[in-house]
Amino acid sequence: MSELQTFDVIFIGGGPAGYTGAIRAAQLGQKVACVEVEPRLGGTCLRVGCVPSKALLESSEKFLETKNTLKKHGVLAENVTLDLATMQKRKETIVTQLTGGIAGLFKKNKVTRFLGLGRLDGPGRVVVTANDGTETAIAAQHIIVATGSVVTPLKGVELDDNRIGTSTEALAWQAVPEHLVVIGGGVIGLELGSVWLRLGAKVTVLEYMDRILAGTDAEVATLAQKLFKRQGVDFKLGVRVTGARLDGDQVVVDIADAESIRCSHVLLAVGRKPNTQGLALESCGITTDTRGQIPVDGHFRTSAAGVYAVGDVIHGPMLAHKAEEDAVACVEQIVNGYGHVDYNLVPGVVYTEPEIATVGKSEEDLKKAEISYRKGSFPFAANARAIALGHTDGFVKILADAQTDRVLGCAIIGPRAGDLIAEVAAAMAFGASSEDIARTCHAHPSLAEVVKEAALAVDGRAVNI
Ligand code: FAD
Ligand code: NAD
Repeated sequence: MSELQTFDVIFIGGGPAGYTGAIRAAQLGQKVACVEVEPRLGGTCLRVGCVPSKALLESSEKFLETKNTLKKHGVLAENVTLDLATMQKRKETIVTQLTGGIAGLFKKNKVTRFLGLGRLDGPGRVVVTANDGTETAIAAQHIIVATGSVVTPLKGVELDDNRIGTSTEALAWQAVPEHLVVIGGGVIGLELGSVWLRLGAKVTVLEYMDRILAGTDAEVATLAQKLFKRQGVDFKLGVRVTGARLDGDQVVVDIADAESIRCSHVLLAVGRKPNTQGLALESCGITTDTRGQIPVDGHFRTSAAGVYAVGDVIHGPMLAHKAEEDAVACVEQIVNGYGHVDYNLVPGVVYTEPEIATVGKSEEDLKKAEISYRKGSFPFAANARAIALGHTDGFVKILADAQTDRVLGCAIIGPRAGDLIAEVAAAMAFGASSEDIARTCHAHPSLAEVVKEAALAVDGRAVNI
């Protein structure tokens, strides 16, 4: 093993948590290393998650729009055909650009990158094993585990890294599946199901629960299911998948107490689990909890002094922006003595058509907690910009405390919901009331006016309805 190199901070994992935290630590004057096993930095999000999925969602939406709705605008395109190879190439180019961008940011911020599998080697030490087996030991006072998450397998589903695949395969198929069965009506299932539906596949979603998008505001999820059904998705709810296997050029999906389904492709999307394999947590006396997460306190400290964990590998929503916030707060706490993330204010966005976005509490949460609230709702169908865009499905719903009027939550289903939610998240971070949002001047005509009108509606004063 080569001579021990020392740093102030070492990140294990170069995803949104690891790379963002490494850059922030460097900005704060720390000598930083980041260990990443994949050649390309950026983690699940940039390589096989957020970025490639959004690229394909955008491209497939353009395809569908050109084929179906542009004529309503008086734009005529004949013989619209799909060039999937170019679509996939564009996606790859975007991934390459963004992952390469992080390598550039590391150089700029003087973050030392180690290519290999990192493992803890007692407090203060990390051993990096390169692809060729060479081991390098590095040391730091602060080691931050940011190893992310991996797909949750399902007993009986025989993944073949191709036609019975996970999101990684479903992002890379080079031909449109004839019939795609999606196991899991969650975020991945609906986003990637939408991509292939738009490109021409028959899509069946099998969901264990009696609703899709568990945990999302029920009114929003109900409308979403109705709209996705209208687009052509076939939902089978309350079904338990017991297996999936290749049978010649078909795939057979077995369901408990129901007939098996024959299809061409399967996407397994029943959740993700923390990735701690091979980390040698035991060398520092760290044990994972029953969910496989690394337990941490409010400052992201594990049970071992000097070892921290952030992102998908700990509790909280498995989202890229949450992972980034964790890592920045962890580093700032180490260097400055202060750092905090309010998980109640982490927005969640589903990039379907229409988009779905939520922040804070849902109506179900508030009812369960017996918090009395007032609700203001406003439809996109009554908004000039939405009508001009031709995207009028959906609504904005704002929930405010019945006594104080403080905004407690917001759910949006409609065009650019993922961008619109930022206003409400910022307002909530400042402890705003619905009246504060209602009295803020919003540009006309803009989709943001729907947020303002929903805030007005909390007090029964929406104007344009
Ligand atoms: P990861 O991004 O998983 O990064 C961990 C990194 O650590 C990986 O690069 C891995 O190779 C590396 N690693 C693991 N073990 C070791 C080791 N021992 N040594 C060295 N390196 C190691 N979230 C959103 O917010 N918005 C989205 O639109 C979105 N879309 C998604 C779409 C898909 C298909 C998927 C699968 C996920 C999506 N997510 C999205 C979730 C998001 O990708 C994750 O929440 C986010 O990547 C978590 O960041 P992280 O840094 O904690 O972990
Ligand atoms: P998910 O938790 O969103 O959905 C999984 C679904 O599978 C649930 O509805 C669950 O009830 C269902 N399920 C579980 N077991 C089943 C079974 N045996 N048969 C049928 N259905 C079953 O998980 P996901 O969609 O795999 O996404 C994983 C993570 O990635 C999520 O935590 C999500 O936050 C993140 N992600 C986020 C985005 C985004 O922010 N836009 C996009 C993709 C992924």
